[in-house]
Amino acid sequence: MNKLESGAAASTVITMAMMLSLFTFLLLSVSRGSPDASPASTVCIIGSGIGGSSVAHFLRKYSPNSTSSIKIRIFERNGIVGGRMATVNVGGETFEAGASILHPKNFHALNYTNLLKLKVKKPSSDSLSLGIWDGKKLIFKTVNSSSRIPFIQFFIDKVVSFANSVIMFARYGFSLLRMQSFVETTVNRFVRYYEKFEARPVFRTVDEMLKWAGLYNLTTRTLGEELIDAGLSPLLIQELVTVITRINYGQSVSMSALAGAVSLAGSGGGLWSVEGGNWQMAAGLINHSNVKLHLHEEIESVSNLGDYYELNSTTGNTYTCEVVVVATPLDELNIQFTPPLSIPERKLQHTHATFVRGLLNPAYFGLHAASKIPELVATIEDPDLPFTSISALKQHNKKDVTYKIFSRTPLDDKLLDSIFSARRETIRINWGAYPQYHAPEVFAPFILDGGHLYYVNAFENAASTIETSAVAAENIARLILSRFFSQVPLGLSKLNASGEKYFHVDL
Ligand SMILES: Cc1cc2nc3c(=O)[nH]c(=O)nc-3n(C[C@H](O)[C@H](O)[C@H](O)COP(=O)(O)OP(=O)(O)OC[C@H]3O[C@@H](n4cnc5c(N)ncnc54)[C@H](O)[C@@H]3O)c2cc1C
Repeated sequence: MNKLESGAAASTVITMAMMLSLFTFLLLSVSRGSPDASPASTVCIIGSGIGGSSVAHFLRKYSPNSTSSIKIRIFERNGIVGGRMATVNVGGETFEAGASILHPKNFHALNYTNLLKLKVKKPSSDSLSLGIWDGKKLIFKTVNSSSRIPFIQFFIDKVVSFANSVIMFARYGFSLLRMQSFVETTVNRFVRYYEKFEARPVFRTVDEMLKWAGLYNLTTRTLGEELIDAGLSPLLIQELVTVITRINYGQSVSMSALAGAVSLAGSGGGLWSVEGGNWQMAAGLINHSNVKLHLHEEIESVSNLGDYYELNSTTGNTYTCEVVVVATPLDELNIQFTPPLSIPERKLQHTHATFVRGLLNPAYFGLHAASKIPELVATIEDPDLPFTSISALKQHNKKDVTYKIFSRTPLDDKLLDSIFSARRETIRINWGAYPQYHAPEVFAPFILDGGHLYYVNAFENAASTIETSAVAAENIARLILSRFFSQVPLGLSKLNASGEKYFHVDL
């Protein structure tokens, strides 16, 4: 090599070295961020139901500029989000298989529906006929309304609804008004959870959260005890109230009174659902919250390693997270926590939802025609009764109806063949549905380890609904922002100024 060549080669090497160091510098700058920007922290959420998706939503909502400083991962063991909000397909049509109804004062759910541009669905008729079955006969029955002509149906519904109020009043009297007043008082206390930040603390425990709203005492007594004190007649408690708690929680009036009151609230007027399925709320919130969603990925261990947690999943992956949120009931799960956790023991009530397309057998109910069977057959508390309720979801024609049956134990084919005269399709779902409620309730902590491991479903001992999960999740998001990110969350009034419609309740 001559001098010129060697000089050129040297300068090429120097240029390459300079380019390499420039490239390395750029690479490091990109991966580290600007020198004074703190690295992003990761919040890992286990569960993509309404609880997990709401935590992600409220983290972003209350910290709008957090996209670069907070990474959110949601892990879901199933291939679809929504958890206990799920649909089932019967004969080509979609029905709610889990959480099906929302209360008109479920303001977070209403906000989600509005934000995500989902459509509210009202029940086709508010005057479904009700029959109370004691295993031998229908001990109570309201009037059925059905007309094929929508215009006439409207008037028939009004007349039937009035007639049914008269029938109810004749049987249960003024106790009905006392029941309504008990429910209203409870709902009015619950809506305090939508108050402005300035008026509403961030709660570190479920007990503190319930005491602040005046709801805690209801978790220390049974529903039966509370309703007797409220002046309800034993007949109303044994029949209508029992029917409602059995349908909504698969339990009797011996359940704790707060969950019982929530269940009664879910039997009033103005109930609604999301057209196409309530699970879309979870899906929409996740889509709107800049989340890395890991479907088909079950978390099997969570280890506290000092400044961070290490999560291991069934797919063999390991994740490092500064904050971990458990957004699923821990009662029937096998997640390995290091160090181990100690939380109060809780059993889940299993509800078997059986969907049948066919026709009920009138002879089973001592009737002559299927048309005489009420649209909702509910049952009183009797361990020999094989089902809790049977409701007609859709009448395709006079001999072809889709039904939903709730029961505490699975229904075998032999039993179904006696209840139904025709059965074209049967789908069975076994839900680990909600806690078994026992007064006085003992609550698991929101902060599981004194660090940054949080538990949304600690609140489920108060009541289990879409809205209570959302309310608990909102509090957890505020806890994380104030404890880990040391942020004073923005006031809702400031967020409202951005034009977002918020159903705010000022008391
Ligand atoms: C039959 C039935 C009827 C109901 N009716 C109503 C009603 O009409 N109205 C109402 O408001 N509420 C109703 N509820 C209650 C309501 O469904 C629940 O309270 C609510 O949906 C709970 O939401 P969540 O997000 O807290 O838990 P979930 O919805 O249970 O979500 C938890 C998620 O975590 C996932 N998961 C669990 N373990 C892991 C793991 N290790 N790794 C990754 N993912 C994991 C699960 O697959 C699940 O998707 C009903 C429930 C049932 C079962």
